[in-house]
Amino acid sequence: MMDYDKIKAGVKLMLEGIGEDVTREGLLETPDRIARMCTEIYGGLYEDASVHLQKQFSVESDDMVIERDITFYSTCEHHLLPFYGKAHIGYLPEGRVAGLSKLARTVDVFARRPQIQEKMTVQIARALEENLKPKGVIVMLEAEHTCMTMRGIKKPGSKTVTMTALGLFREQKELQDRFLAMVRQ
Ligand code: ZN
Repeated sequence: MMDYDKIKAGVKLMLEGIGEDVTREGLLETPDRIARMCTEIYGGLYEDASVHLQKQFSVESDDMVIERDITFYSTCEHHLLPFYGKAHIGYLPEGRVAGLSKLARTVDVFARRPQIQEKMTVQIARALEENLKPKGVIVMLEAEHTCMTMRGIKKPGSKTVTMTALGLFREQKELQDRFLAMVRQ
C-alpha cells in the first residue's frame, strides 16, 4: 500500500524547494492532506477492473451497448496535473453484458492513477475485452489537460480525443460510425 510518510516528506521537500515557508499556518497540514488525498486520486493502482467486471448478466440480443458521458478525473503522469473529461464506451455483447455502473467503475480504476490518456483508453478497452469477451469494443475519451491550459501552450477549452477499437469495431468502419453518431447526438 501507499507509504504516507514518504508522500509527506516529498511534499514538504517540494514546498521547501520552491522557497515556501512550510511552517506557516496554511501549509502546516498540507503534506498530511496530500498524503490522504493520494488514496482517493491514485487508489486505482491498487484496484483490479476484473473485480468490477465479474458482475455480468446474460442477454439474448447482440445489439450494441453504449454508455456515454462517463465523467472522469485523472492525473497526467508527466506533470502531476489533472486531466478530466468524458469517457464513451461501446461494445457488442457475446451473450453477456456488464452491469452499467461497472463500466463507470472500470473507467475510475484506470483514471485514479498517474496516467496518460492514450494508455488509459487502451487499458479500459482491454479490460472489457478480457472480462466480457465481446465481439467488439470501442472506447473514446475526450479530456481537457490542465498541463496544457494552465501552463505550457495555454489553450483553455482545447480537448484531447483518443479512441481505441478492438474486434469488430476495428474491422468494420460502419460500426465505428454508428458508435460515433450515437455519442455525438
Ligand atoms: Zn501533462
